[in-house]
Parts: sequence; C-alpha cells; structure tokens
Amino acid sequence: MKKTDNEWKALLPADVFQITRKKGTERPFENAYHDLKADGVYHCVCCQTPLFDSAHKFDSGTGWPSFFQPLDSEAVGELADRSIFFMPRTEVICNACDAHLGHVFNDGPTPTGLRYCINSASLTFESRDDSDTSGT
Ligand SMILES: [Zn+2]
Repeated sequence: MKKTDNEWKALLPADVFQITRKKGTERPFENAYHDLKADGVYHCVCCQTPLFDSAHKFDSGTGWPSFFQPLDSEAVGELADRSIFFMPRTEVICNACDAHLGHVFNDGPTPTGLRYCINSASLTFESRDDSDTSGT
C-alpha cells in the first residue's frame, strides 16, 4: 500500500494529493462531509481502508467532519505534529497508506472526550443503505 509521492500524484486529484500526501487542510464548511448525517462508513480516499463510522460522527461546529473515535483503533495512527511550534498537535494518519487525515484533539464529547477533526478530501463515504449507494 506504500507508494511514492509521484505515484500518488498520478492517482489522486490535485487537492486530495495536497491534503493526504502533503498534510494540507481543506477549507471549513466548503467540504463534502462536514454536514453529512447519512448512515455509513468513511473509507480512506487513498487505499479504501474503513476508517470512521457515521455512528461516531458528531457536529463539532468546526466545519470539518468530526468523530469521537475511529472505526478501529488499529486503522488509524497518531503522530506528534510540531509544524506550529507553539501549538503541538496530534496528527491522524491512515495506518495502511500513511495518508494524512487530520488531527485529534482532547475537547470531544462523551464517551471518549476525543475529537477527530478530519478532512473530507481524505475520505470517501459509503452508505450502509444498499438501496442508495450514491452517498447523497
Ligand atoms: Zn489509506
């Protein structure tokens, strides 16, 4: 599942490449999934690994899709992010392909108290309702 930047660049749209492989951040509210309440599973846009479940999604008001836990703690990795030196953060990545997903913060709701703040561009949504796979 590991690929070089050039391989990913050939596979992914430019904005998705920038976010997932160059640790970019999309604009709040102007992204696909921040407001989506449909029942289903969010997969890694790069490798299709299931990462988050709509059952764990909540409205954080930040303009990004937010979850209080990953679908499977093994699927999601965490790295110390010191790119803003006065504001250490914890980066969240896809363990299978190292895609940058977003960050996790300690101000989430119960039961975990965590807030996984994830870029929509890092995810593809798959509805659990078989009769409607369009993901509307
Ligand atoms: Zn992945």
